[in-house]
Amino acid sequence: MALRVYSTQTRQVQELKPLDGRTVHMYTCGPTVYDFVHIGNFRTFILQDLLRRYIKYKGFPLLHVMNMTDVDDKIINNARKAGLSIKEYTAQYARAFFEDIEKLRIETPEIIPYATEHIDEMVELILKLRNKGYTYESDGSIYYRISSFGDYGRLSHLDLSEVQTEGRIDADEYTKENPRDFVLWKAKKEGEASWDTPLGPGRPGWHIECSAMSMKYLGGSFDIHCGGVDLIFPHHENEIAQSEGATGKPFVRHWMHCEFLLVEGEKMAKSKGNQYTLRDLMDRGCDPLAVRYLLQSVHYRKQLNFTFAGVGDSHSALRRINDFLLRIREVSDDRPENRDLSERVARARSDFEAGLDNDLNTSVALAALFDLIKETNILLERREVGAANRNQILSLFADANQVFAVFQVEEQRLEDEEIIELIEEREEARRQRDYQRADEIRHLLAHRGIILEDTKEGTRWKRAS
Ligand code: AMP
Ligand code: ZN
Repeated sequence: MALRVYSTQTRQVQELKPLDGRTVHMYTCGPTVYDFVHIGNFRTFILQDLLRRYIKYKGFPLLHVMNMTDVDDKIINNARKAGLSIKEYTAQYARAFFEDIEKLRIETPEIIPYATEHIDEMVELILKLRNKGYTYESDGSIYYRISSFGDYGRLSHLDLSEVQTEGRIDADEYTKENPRDFVLWKAKKEGEASWDTPLGPGRPGWHIECSAMSMKYLGGSFDIHCGGVDLIFPHHENEIAQSEGATGKPFVRHWMHCEFLLVEGEKMAKSKGNQYTLRDLMDRGCDPLAVRYLLQSVHYRKQLNFTFAGVGDSHSALRRINDFLLRIREVSDDRPENRDLSERVARARSDFEAGLDNDLNTSVALAALFDLIKETNILLERREVGAANRNQILSLFADANQVFAVFQVEEQRLEDEEIIELIEEREEARRQRDYQRADEIRHLLAHRGIILEDTKEGTRWKRAS
């Protein structure tokens, strides 16, 4: 089946067909590196990662660009307060971002352009818009006159007469003709970072960077553009006005937006003390993979309420899957195939894919895996699982993990000689009915992160998460 995704613009689920007939070209709005990224941002970044992974799963080559916003008002103010240059200030948070995404198993996009390294491209785009009559100048700043772009508002479906001002507005933007016009180029202010360009000294507005960088790397028309719902208006609406104003071509085929993450039922805000970073959660003992599991387990177009109980449940769900994988691996090679189970595994695979094909419905896809686990566990008890079934199931979970990226699908190996010897010594102690020594060894190993489980088939070990 084909992958179908919901498009904010058409409000319909539509088949994803690459415009060039082959490669999916995708742009996602990346982090503003003025601080550590919070888990709300990570809900959106994980959706984007799941999308990129599933596009590849479906066999499409992918070119994914994600920008880094490394210049804006907050960055300029914070850097000045810290006595650092913009580069020095943002480098620490960019580094932290890459550390965090590695822990969350978010893949690195193919191209990661930084705004400060693309000032020339932004200036060129603004010049083009100026030549075509979309802009006006006031006090050295350049604005986009939205009344000159007939299609303004088509993405957000907003009644613009009711919208007063843009979301991220500067207090000093009193020079605009219309409050909804947005700034493309900000005149230089004393003591602030600025660039000397053919537009005069100054710095770019926020929206222009995404138009300039997406079109530089993906061309004037491309397949997918993605971000959180708060970016629909005005950021993405403004991007359409900038890009289509300059090229006269349709900018993006599918606009996708991730719903918000709430925390304990409330909007995240620093003032409420409920704005968590991944680091905050790890300090409280949360496993990053359980966090990833939680953030991707609910369909991205529904709001998700983050709770610590939810992380606990995700941890249990992951343990259930990983324990099952350990158990299934123990089925020996001489066991005959159970044909009914083979059919059942094929059905689980098609249910899994049907869920994701239908606008990345992760809860349906995960339910397909859990149903299979439940039924196979019963068959394992009855010793009715064959070696062929074992292989089919392991391969299904390995494939599913290419998308979900949280399961323990690789066979774990013990490399530490001392641990191997301790496990053997404990087996021997149990044979000799020396249960005191066997228990001592269990505790010793637990200290070293190895958990033992005695089953009918023998002793099983796993690493504590
Ligand atoms: P920013 O660094 O503020 O530009 O945000 C990075 C990404 O996170 C953008 O796609 C935002 O739309 C998204 N985002 C911000 N807050 C939340 C939230 N609470 N839940 C989900 N996504 C969010
Ligand atoms: Zn953007």
